[in-house]
Amino acid sequence: MGLFSKKEACPVCGGEVKGLFLIKIGDKKTLCKGCSKQVSMQKEQLEKATPEFIREHLAYRQKNAEAFATHTWTEKYTAIPGFTMGLDEAGQAVYFIHDALGDVEENPVVFSFDRLTGYELYRRKTKLDGMEDTGAIPLETGLSALGAIARLANGDQSKNYDTFHLKLTTTDPYWPAIDFKIDFADTQLHGFGGFAGEMQRVCQILKTIARRESLTCVH
Ligand SMILES: [Zn+2]
Repeated sequence: MGLFSKKEACPVCGGEVKGLFLIKIGDKKTLCKGCSKQVSMQKEQLEKATPEFIREHLAYRQKNAEAFATHTWTEKYTAIPGFTMGLDEAGQAVYFIHDALGDVEENPVVFSFDRLTGYELYRRKTKLDGMEDTGAIPLETGLSALGAIARLANGDQSKNYDTFHLKLTTTDPYWPAIDFKIDFADTQLHGFGGFAGEMQRVCQILKTIARRESLTCVH
């Protein structure tokens, strides 16, 4: 195997394997760009995935694309840094776009409400909210602390962000658990795009769905 040896073909479709950001599966095999762009599954599964497992997964992702096209997405939340959520309340489904799910911009991952089973919100390692907490997201404590952080950070422009983790558990075979990491710059902490804006709303919606409560109270 020299530097100029011919690369192995994609183990899933037989296509040419070249380019950046390609996905590796079990047995140190690398997928082609086309297949890599369609994959969305937990790292633990990916690391031991066989070509056959990926083929089944791609069929599942094709069904996902059809579901995405079929739903009527009446609400779309795009103000949270690096995170997009769509909601079809009547059709009982949400979709997500986030790096944690892979390169899914063209085929966002759709979950029907009944697939969402758990919700937790962390600020760094501190839990702010969870399934057992009823009612509104407790922002008071979080926000006052955030304000302090923002003020402290004002002297150093390179470190002006605060990290949140929105964690979900689902019954989806490829996403039993998801950890959406969301970084807010201090200028984004307040207002519509900040933690008290869409973030609060999105968390409230997801908690309500996971708790099997009515979304009409959230509006
Ligand atoms: Zn391929």
